[in-house]
Amino acid sequence: MHLTTVLNALQSIAPLEFAESWDNVGLSVGNRNRQVERAMTCLTLTATTLAEAIQQQVQLVICHHPIPFKPINKITDDTTTGKLLVQAIEAGIAIYSPHTAWDNAKTGINQQLSAFLELENVKPLQTFATSISTDETLGVGRYGKLSVSVSIAEIIRRISSKIPNIQSRHTHAADHCVSKVGIICGSGGSMLSLAARRGCDAMLTGEATYHQCLEAESLGIAMLMIGHHASESFAMKELAIQLQLLTPELRVTTSELEDSLF
Ligand SMILES: [Zn+2]
Repeated sequence: MHLTTVLNALQSIAPLEFAESWDNVGLSVGNRNRQVERAMTCLTLTATTLAEAIQQQVQLVICHHPIPFKPINKITDDTTTGKLLVQAIEAGIAIYSPHTAWDNAKTGINQQLSAFLELENVKPLQTFATSISTDETLGVGRYGKLSVSVSIAEIIRRISSKIPNIQSRHTHAADHCVSKVGIICGSGGSMLSLAARRGCDAMLTGEATYHQCLEAESLGIAMLMIGHHASESFAMKELAIQLQLLTPELRVTTSELEDSLF
């Protein structure tokens, strides 16, 4: 099928207008008129995942993190980013990144994490501008209430049952109980004040800095960090499943090597 057809399917799963304004989502490398028979999802395009994509003979890599992310003025093998882009282009591989569009999507990463925690009355931490969407259930991040207060240890248990082998870190004691949790996958420390405004007493994210953890403590928010990779990589399997359902003729796989890096 045409690459355009695949891009339309991805757009219906994670509309690009849901992405943050600073992001670089969508097709970053590729010819929209090329035929695509195989696609692979992964969290990040690296030497490992690109080699796997070449070995799997895919024509499209859907990597969560955009590459290039920041503007570049040369594409050569002198830089890590340039080297990956040159290799992908030489191998005839298109690159697409949904990034924050997938974080924020209706069935996206933050929504999936909310379900793992069994949160109720889930809402976005920040709704979209009405020019983007008037659906008040959609927006940046998520937060919700636990039906009964639970300990940080119980939250980690719920996450671990869905994402095996997580190495979590947290502020506060493991038996500290919380009842309203904010969720931002990846690096969510900058969204703390928003979580505080929504009355959250806990925040689940991938990673946060020392100073963000101190800020969380001063706001009365317990910070749970499950690792950037762990907080997002599971969702690239889900994205592959959703894309496969919409494009039965395309063979969609997920990187099998990436998780071994973390
Ligand atoms: Zn990320």
